Amino acid sequence: MKFGGTSVGHIERIRHVAARVKRAWDAGHEIAVVVSAMSGETNRLVELCKAAHPLHDLREYDTVVSTGEQVTVGLLAIMLQSLGVEARSWLAWQLPITTSNAHGNANIETIETASLIERFASHDRQVAVLPGFQGLSPLGRVTTLGRGGSDTSAVALAAALHADRCDIYTDVDGVYTTDPRLVPNARKIDKISHEEMLEMASLGAKVLQTRSVALAMRHQVPLQVLSSFDDTPGTFIVPEEEIMEDATVTGIPFSKAEARITLSGVPDRPGSSADIFTSLGDAGINVDMIVQSQTQENGATDMTFTVTDTDMERAVALMEAKRAAIGYTSLVADDKVAKVSIVGVGMRTNSGVAQTMFTALADKGINIQVITTSEIKVSVLIGEEYLELAVRALHSAFGLDA
Ligand code: ADP
Ligand code: ASP
Ligand code: MG
Repeated sequence: MKFGGTSVGHIERIRHVAARVKRAWDAGHEIAVVVSAMSGETNRLVELCKAAHPLHDLREYDTVVSTGEQVTVGLLAIMLQSLGVEARSWLAWQLPITTSNAHGNANIETIETASLIERFASHDRQVAVLPGFQGLSPLGRVTTLGRGGSDTSAVALAAALHADRCDIYTDVDGVYTTDPRLVPNARKIDKISHEEMLEMASLGAKVLQTRSVALAMRHQVPLQVLSSFDDTPGTFIVPEEEIMEDATVTGIPFSKAEARITLSGVPDRPGSSADIFTSLGDAGINVDMIVQSQTQENGATDMTFTVTDTDMERAVALMEAKRAAIGYTSLVADDKVAKVSIVGVGMRTNSGVAQTMFTALADKGINIQVITTSEIKVSVLIGEEYLELAVRALHSAFGLDA
């Protein structure tokens, strides 16, 4: 069972979580509970690091931001005990949950579950309360798994324990066709394939961290997203074969955390793209969408690409430093852009999907700046001010409105 930030947002909510865990425990289950920090706490800690120094050491960042989860594991263990449930908290280093050395965004490598399993047997099914987000580096320091990483902690632990299931309790009662906070008539999806959920998550639906979905797929962990506040059935993330009918478009994820950079007058010669994208890659900046315009009469071309908005300043500085080597004439950067995507495995077999998307946007007078496609998704970059209008228009155009 994993409970997110809002679900443990204050003491009474944690008490409610404890009561929920007790119900499952009373039903005879062996349970590991993963909790996030209280809502807002990780953001607060991130801001403290920035205030201490904008370019801080990521090892020390992890020392600070990993503490939010230390508080909630302890509080939940206390409340479980007060309800008469055998419970014990653990920190990542105690198991340990070992990770790569990539501080701030580490990957889980192994989880030692022997002591948890032993306690299930020897201590009346003692509930293990574990921190999401935390790990232990090969050099013995605390690491964190990237924002939203508690989902990944929960799935990894479920896989390591060979758990019957992994239930992700959150502040919505499942995965919706789009963020229900933006589109109130979004529909809850009963079952979604791993492939689609992976795309939804990586294209902006933050209800699950992308890596948690990849892990669930790889290790065949039965995964469910459901509400921590009521008992309605949630959304199951399942292998594609288990889905009977393929809707053409299953969901519409979106992301505001995008920035567009255009280099004009780039000499159209072999190696131009390699110059640009190698230097970005070397600096650890992920490039998402790329378009190159047609070559003009003077043999130059325009190159547009997107990065996350938090990387924009660094990317611009890099391009400016490389201006002479790349040979472009001008640079424009804009972070008032958003990416809207349509996702669905049915796109493999249905034609005309992109056309419906572009028409729906054109009907609302929304200009598309960049397009990318893959087998089961189409993404467009638009002005941020059109985001809500675009998502609503596409939601109706693909018949998703509740
Ligand atoms: P937690 O703290 O429980 O991990 P998150 O805030 O990380 O919760 O994720 C839940 C939020 O994800 C919801 O409150 C909702 O606004 C957002 N969200 C975005 N896209 C979707 C979607 N397609 N379906 C459900 N929730 C979504
Ligand atoms: N507390 C961490 C975060 O806010 C991890 C999580 O909630 O999943 O990113
Ligand atoms: Mg989350």
